[in-house]
Amino acid sequence: MGSTHALESAQGKLPLFSFGVISDVQYADIPDGKSFLGIPRYYRHSFSVLQRAIETWNNQQKHIFVINFGDIVDGFCPKDQSLNAVRKVVTEFEKFKGPVYHLIGNHCLYNLPREKLLPLLKIESFDAHAYYDFSPAPGFRIVVLDGYDISAIGWPPDNPNTLQALLFLRKKNPNSDKNSPEGLLGLERRFLMFNGAVGRKQMEWLDNVLQEAMKLNQKVIVCCHLPLDPGVSCREALLWNYDEVLNVIHQYDCVKACLSGHDHKGGHSIDSHGVHHRSFEAALECPPGTDAFGYIDVYDDRLILVGADRMKSTSMLFHP
Ligand SMILES: [Zn+2]
Repeated sequence: MGSTHALESAQGKLPLFSFGVISDVQYADIPDGKSFLGIPRYYRHSFSVLQRAIETWNNQQKHIFVINFGDIVDGFCPKDQSLNAVRKVVTEFEKFKGPVYHLIGNHCLYNLPREKLLPLLKIESFDAHAYYDFSPAPGFRIVVLDGYDISAIGWPPDNPNTLQALLFLRKKNPNSDKNSPEGLLGLERRFLMFNGAVGRKQMEWLDNVLQEAMKLNQKVIVCCHLPLDPGVSCREALLWNYDEVLNVIHQYDCVKACLSGHDHKGGHSIDSHGVHHRSFEAALECPPGTDAFGYIDVYDDRLILVGADRMKSTSMLFHP
């Protein structure tokens, strides 16, 4: 922490508001392992990262809320422990002295179906969907997208969203293992079972929310577990229809930044319309004693992410 102090003092003003961020805790009470790319994963230590995050945010006494960018419990968590593991992580989040907003990720859905998961995360939603928005301060709006709206995970097997996702994967990915990108070229490598899409109804909702934000002169921060820009993450982590979502976002000039998890290594890009994209470094991949969490100071004209340890600090000046 602290590397942006010069930036803050150069600007010489206090943020309008601040909030904490953390992603991909993927806790499980199992020995350390590796990702399919061979990157070490510390399933138990990630809970300590979360504990230090909560303690730090509470000590800083300035954050008006926290956003968890999804994947709170790992898919390798033994299924008879899933409910307790999710409860344990949620209980830890509740030690933050303020509201916590959760996003759902694929790993959450490997552990619990939507009807069990959403009430635990206190996501009040229509029809078991997990998209919502709120205005934390005058002139700003946070929009949370449900990247697993059309998905082969999390819905009952006969749900239309499951069937639509399976049909889509059959067309787009010829591999018998739909989590394998083998043979897929370029951006098509995102057509994997562990990703998903924003459905038609959610897309209309997003369009309406952005129209309203324009009318109210609000600046918007879009949050989604899955990254929305090819420049911010590996191709295998992108939302299936990130291009359609960006088309909606780019019709308006109120969206200033899109924040995400899922990719684990972290990234920052600015797309063709000047919108910032920032995918967060995973808590899961922190070797013991290291951290990956941070907070965002929100100003009129920029976001300043102040990261701890492995989470890089990033200054995001809004496109005029
Ligand atoms: Zn994920």
